[in-house]
Amino acid sequence: MEWEVVIGLEVHAQLSTKSKIFSGASTEFGAEPNTQACAIDLGMPGVLPVLNEKAVEMAVKFALGANAVISPKSVFARKNYFYPDLPKGYQISQFELPIVGKGYLDVMVDSETTKRINITRAHLEEDAGKSLHEDFQGSTGVDLNRAGTPLLEIVSEPDMRSAKEAVAYLKTLHTLVRYLDICDGNMQEGSFRCDANVSVRPKGETKLGTRTELKNINSFRFVERAINYEVERQINVIENGGKITQETRLYDPNKNETRSMRSKEEANDYRYFPDPDLLPLIIPSELIERVKRELPELPQQKRERFMQAYNLSAYDASILVSSKDMAAFYEETVNASKNQPKLAANWIISELLGALNKAGLELNESPISSAQLGQLVERIGDNTISGKIAKTIFEALWNKEGSVDEIIEKRGLKQVTDTGAIEKLIDEIIAANPQQVADYRAGKEKLFGFFVGQAMKLSGGKMNPAQLNDMLKKKLQG
Ligand code: ADP
Ligand code: MG
Repeated sequence: MEWEVVIGLEVHAQLSTKSKIFSGASTEFGAEPNTQACAIDLGMPGVLPVLNEKAVEMAVKFALGANAVISPKSVFARKNYFYPDLPKGYQISQFELPIVGKGYLDVMVDSETTKRINITRAHLEEDAGKSLHEDFQGSTGVDLNRAGTPLLEIVSEPDMRSAKEAVAYLKTLHTLVRYLDICDGNMQEGSFRCDANVSVRPKGETKLGTRTELKNINSFRFVERAINYEVERQINVIENGGKITQETRLYDPNKNETRSMRSKEEANDYRYFPDPDLLPLIIPSELIERVKRELPELPQQKRERFMQAYNLSAYDASILVSSKDMAAFYEETVNASKNQPKLAANWIISELLGALNKAGLELNESPISSAQLGQLVERIGDNTISGKIAKTIFEALWNKEGSVDEIIEKRGLKQVTDTGAIEKLIDEIIAANPQQVADYRAGKEKLFGFFVGQAMKLSGGKMNPAQLNDMLKKKLQG
C-alpha cells in the first residue's frame, strides 16, 4: 500500500511590540520572574484590556506579506480554560472572525520545485505565562512575565505532503516575519513555535485521514524529525490493523519519538464567546494604505530582483535572500568584487556558508567580511589568482592573516599569466618526460592530464588553467 502524507501547520509568532497586547507591561525577554506582569496581565478584578495598536499594525503587515485578506472587522473572543499560568481563567484570542483571512505563500521546496501553500487564517491572541518545573523540588513555579505577550497564530491549510515541504514552508514563513520586522524569529526563546498536524491516507484517497497534533516543536530540524517519526508510526499502526486516534502528542528530541499527551475526548471545550471588554476591531483602509507604503522589499521580490539583476538561479537567489542580513552581505560582496555577481554567489553559498556552518557560526559572526570576500572574488575574476589558490587565501582570510592582496603578496600566490613563463615551464616538462610525450603523440590522449598535473605541481598551482591548457595542447602537438 502506498501512503500519502498530509500536514497542516499552526505557527505562533510572537510579535515584537515593546509592550503587551492588552497592557503597558514590557515584553522584554529574560527578566526576573514575575517582574513584568501588571494587574491586567494577572487578570485582577476590575481591570480592562486596551488593545495595542502596534500589534494590529503587525498583523496587517503580515497579511500584506502573505497575500492575505484583511478582515475589515474582527472580534476578540475568550477561550476559557483553567491552568496555573493563566490567572484570568481565559485567554483572549480570536475565533470566528480573525483579523487575517485566506492567503498563501509560494515556497521553494528544492532547486526544482516551488509549491503554493495556502494559509487558512491568522489571528491575534495573548500568550499565557510559563510553568517552571525544573528548579522546584516537588512543586511548580509560575512566571507570568509572558502572560499577555502578543502572538499571531498563523494556520495553514493541510497542503503539505512531506516533512521536507513542511520545513520549507516554515522557513519561508520565518523569513517573511523577520523581513517584515514583526517577530524576531528566535525559536530557542519560543518567539516562533510550531504545532504540526499530521495524517496519512492511501494514495489516491481524497478524504483526509485522522490527524494527530505534535505540539511546540522549537527547531526546523525537530519539525522534520518529529513529522517523519509520526508518519512512520501512523503507517505502522494502520498496517497492523489499528486505528489512529485524534490526539495531541509531544515530540521528545532526546529519544526522537512522539508520545501521547491527551486525546480529543479529553480535550477542552473552550466555550468561546466574544470578549465583552473589547470592542470589535475595525481596520480603517488608511491604516492598510500606510502599512503598504511602508512595506520593505519582501523576500520573494528580492529573490526575483536577484535573479534578474545578477543572473542567479531561483534556488541560489532563495538562499541569498533567506535573511535580510544575508541579502545585504551578498550585495556588498558583489559591489566589492567589481561586479562578479555569479562568482560572489558561489563563494558565499558553497564556501562561506559551508565554513560558517562547520564552525557553528552565524553570518554576523563571520571572520571574513563582505568587503574581503568581494576582493577575493575580484582577484579571481581579473585572473590574478586561480579558483584553487583562492581557497588557500580564503583560509588565510578566515585566520585573519591580512587583506587579500597582502596574502597574495606575502605568500607569492599570484597566478602566472606571463606566456613566456608558462612556455618555459612547459618546455621543461616536455624535456623531462620524453617517454610520456612520445606516448601522447602516438595517441594516448589521457596523458594530457599528467602534463597539466606536472605543470600545476611545479608552479604550486599558480598556472592559469585556461592558458595552460591552450599552450600545452599546442606544444604537445609538436
Ligand atoms: P484545531 O484548532 O483543533 O487544531 P483546526 O481546524 O484549526 O483545528 O486545524 C488545525 C490545523 O490542522 C490546520 O493547519 C489544518 O490544516 C490541519 N489539519 C486539519 N485536518 C488535518 C488532517 N486530517 N491532516 C493533517 N492536517 C490537518
Ligand atoms: Mg490545533
